[in-house]
Amino acid sequence: MELVIDVQGVSRKFGDFYALKNVDLKVHKGMVFGLLGPNGSGKSTLIRILCGLLAPSEGHARVLGLDVAKQGEEVRRHIGYMSQKFALYEDLTVHENLDFYARIYGLTGERLRRRRAAAIELTHIGPYVDRRAGQLSGGWKQRLALGSALMHEPEVVFLDEPTAGIDPVARRELWDLLFMLAAQGITLLVTTHYMDEAERCGEVGYLYMSKMLAIGTPDQLKTIAEVNPPGWRRVEVETAATQTAPALAWLRAQPFCGGATIFGQSVHALIKTDVDDRELTKALGKSNIVVTSLRPIAPSLEDVFVTLTEKAARDVAGASSPSAAAEPQ
Ligand code: ADP
Ligand code: MG
Repeated sequence: MELVIDVQGVSRKFGDFYALKNVDLKVHKGMVFGLLGPNGSGKSTLIRILCGLLAPSEGHARVLGLDVAKQGEEVRRHIGYMSQKFALYEDLTVHENLDFYARIYGLTGERLRRRRAAAIELTHIGPYVDRRAGQLSGGWKQRLALGSALMHEPEVVFLDEPTAGIDPVARRELWDLLFMLAAQGITLLVTTHYMDEAERCGEVGYLYMSKMLAIGTPDQLKTIAEVNPPGWRRVEVETAATQTAPALAWLRAQPFCGGATIFGQSVHALIKTDVDDRELTKALGKSNIVVTSLRPIAPSLEDVFVTLTEKAARDVAGASSPSAAAEPQ
């Protein structure tokens, strides 16, 4: 499988601050790679480096075999970039925006017309071609931004939080578009905060405080040792809606509970394997919490990221205080 993005030991400093620290990443052709991480973790910095807009302070990165630090211009000819900030011209129509982006890449005449028609067909934005971009809804703006980023037929597309702030239906439709592109052999690197989007990615990387804490398929990440500590198991406890918060508080206070989080109307908890479901239900009942269902579950991606974040935070705390607790949270 062709390696399209190859990042080796990349760090980026701003003054004394590391926005990225020793990051490795490999993405193969046709992959939809999801990059996750809290705000400020370094996602946009990594994308800007891969687009050849920012030089790494240490390490090397190649996109399509090109060195991003030395061949930035060549890299940009082959990639599309949808930046986190809205990058359309609000006063131009959809049609004019597409033409504007095409011309930046030197497209003219028949090729420009062909590419514009293809972008309109792909994004289904035909009914709005004469509308000013500023008048489009959030979802349509993002489709136009994607169409614009595709005018020069890039082989790799970087999308920085493309679905932030758009409605769930528009999000789903944009992702359907991304998968259509991947099926054509286009490689996509997408940042997102949405777990349902992360679940759909072929591979996911989790950046936290400038470091890549884990990379793998969603299923691989769910099996990593930190998330499945020996002697502990994960359960979903469902109660009446009004009792979800008390159930969470109760579970968190138990010595056999290594951490609990609310998911919708249920609580996901990590508990010691020697506490069985019946005992747990009974103990909750004694505290006046009526369990409507209790079942073992596999960790979700959110469990994975929460666990990795807490571990990294403990490691940071541990560096300054060696007695920091090592129990799972
Ligand atoms: P993310 O996209 O994950 O939210 P960013 O890559 O934008 O994170 O930023 C990572 C960190 O680097 C942040 O703390 C941010 O303030 C800092 N940073 C980003 N760009 C610059 C810059 N040009 N100068 C100084 N600090 C920066
Ligand atoms: Mg960002």
